[in-house]
This record gives sequence, structure tokens and C-alpha cells, in this order.
Amino acid sequence: MGLHELIDYLVRLKLANNAKALCILEMAANGESPRRIYEACDATRYEFKHYLSKAREKMGDGFKTFIIIKHVLPLLDNIQPIIINNRCIICNTSIYYADALNHLHYKHRDIVEKHINKIIEKLVKRIARN
Ligand SMILES: [Zn+2]
Repeated sequence: MGLHELIDYLVRLKLANNAKALCILEMAANGESPRRIYEACDATRYEFKHYLSKAREKMGDGFKTFIIIKHVLPLLDNIQPIIINNRCIICNTSIYYADALNHLHYKHRDIVEKHINKIIEKLVKRIARN
């Protein structure tokens, strides 16, 4: 649990091209109401609850989760997804949607870690500037 795990989760959502999850988390972090989020992200109540509770579980602190999400999401913009149309473009494996995060965790740990480290570096630099 903690910062590293939450960033890891966000990075893998981006690498897996899960725009819906990132939409839900971004809007929730900005204090939008669930109803607006369902509409804007084309999400069900189940999806909304699922991604929110996953993110909180990673961080272990509901309040900090939203602060971290706000700071980290803009830094994901530079990351290109590697799972596109249910296929991993690195190892050319066909991947069922629900297995994408596990695939990234177990097969492409190096890529995920590289992105996590870059993001932590950027966050530290920002804090140092303030
Ligand atoms: Zn792969």
C-alpha cells in the first residue's frame, strides 16, 4: 500500500489504454458527482465503484488518493498505451480486457517501473520548486 502502488496502478491503466477508468478517477478527484461521472465517462455504477475502491485500496487513504491522482494524471499524458484493441504491441499477445493490468504487472514490469520512476522524479522536482 502507498504512493508507489497507486502510481503503479495509474500507469498500468494508461498503458492498458483504459480511458474509462482514468476518466472516472479524474472526475472523482475533481469532486464531480457520480451522476455526472456516469454520463461523461460512459460508466456504470459498478465501474465507478470498482475503480474508485481499487485506487483507494492502493493508497490506503481516501483523502490522499484524490490528491495524488490530481497530480499524477497530467503526467500520464506522455505515456503511450501498449495494449491496444486487446493486443499487447510489445509481445503481440492477445489479451482479454480484464487481464490487461495483470499482463502488464507480470510480463512488462520493467516498462511499468520505468514510468513509475519518471513520474516520481517529476513529482519530487515539482515539490522542490515550491
Ligand atoms: Zn505483452
